[in-house]
Amino acid sequence: MQVPLLDLKAQYRTIKHEIDPVVQEVIESQYFILGPKVAEFEEAVANYCQANYALGVSSGTDALLIALMAIDIQPGDEVITTTYSFFATAGSIARLHAKPVFVDIDPQTFNIDPAKIEDKITEKTRAIIPVHLYGQMADMDPIMEIARKHNLYVIEDAAQAIGSEYVDGRRAGSIGHIGCFSFFPSKNLGGFGDGGLVTTNDEKLYEKLKYLRNHGAHPKYYHKMIGGNFRLDALQAAVLNVKLKHLDEWTAGRQKNADFYDQGIEQRALQKYVTPPVRKEGYRHIFNQYILRAQKRDELVQYLKEHQIGCEIYYPVTFNNQECFKYLGYGKGDFPLAEKAADETLAIPIYPELTDDQKNYVLDTILNFYK
Ligand SMILES: *Cc1c(COP(=O)(O)O)cnc(C)c1O
Repeated sequence: MQVPLLDLKAQYRTIKHEIDPVVQEVIESQYFILGPKVAEFEEAVANYCQANYALGVSSGTDALLIALMAIDIQPGDEVITTTYSFFATAGSIARLHAKPVFVDIDPQTFNIDPAKIEDKITEKTRAIIPVHLYGQMADMDPIMEIARKHNLYVIEDAAQAIGSEYVDGRRAGSIGHIGCFSFFPSKNLGGFGDGGLVTTNDEKLYEKLKYLRNHGAHPKYYHKMIGGNFRLDALQAAVLNVKLKHLDEWTAGRQKNADFYDQGIEQRALQKYVTPPVRKEGYRHIFNQYILRAQKRDELVQYLKEHQIGCEIYYPVTFNNQECFKYLGYGKGDFPLAEKAADETLAIPIYPELTDDQKNYVLDTILNFYK
């Protein structure tokens, strides 16, 4: 048996009959950049994310970059974020010559610990970027409270969290000033290439984001600000429009698989060796990843790979230990909880098309490793 970490061909087979005609339609139209397909998609996603506005952009990374540009982040400004995320979260801050300021995580959820944010605020702090890691939202109420108190912007990195909900059914990208999404093919809503999106409830920010997306031009050829080419392709929007209609059924499939693993771990008495992901009460976890904390993690990863099971370490190195951030002056051990997570966790396959046989094979292989 083989179990890949993700099987996008399995997903494509189920929707090929819907996707191929819309792709052909874009080709026939020869309208490739922005346009009606993108506008249609933006309206649908804004609605899905409970945000007033949504704007398609070129990637999740560019969503973060354009969001920071829209709030006018300047060289030397400080932006607080978690030390444990995909590189783009911190990279976007540094690319604007602002200073990323890191915070340790809540060891249960792997998300930024709001109780540790206020200590990091200085007169240079301009914004906070919480990340909704693996598909479960960060604890947003205390973060928004701190932001209000200190007059800071909050940019949600929701790249792994489309449709994820905080308490009271509030969705990712609807709480902070700007929400940033990615349609990288392996995200829960993945395109046929790079793509991203920003959401906001603020009309002024929306207007600014819209100009920045196209070199800051308004009207065409007149530039009051400097933007870039952050546009989304019509082809991606057409594909994503079709896929968005399936997202809730795919999310349900991921959640069902997570339940299956949780129960399978209990039935096999595996909790001695591995800890399943913690789901916060009242949240909607969309399981972009199913993350285990495991004893002898590196050996387990090796063993699973030898047995044809895809798995991955997200992420082996926290930001404070990245070579490129040495200049920030952090050291090893500065963020013990995140660093422990980086040493102990692995992702196992969770994609919706997994069969029960495949999931049982994953669980039995883990059991065999520890036996
Ligand atoms: C994927 C991801 C990004 C970047 O998205 P791209 O579309 O790959 O540029 C940013 N932040 C997080 C947390 C991500 O998982």
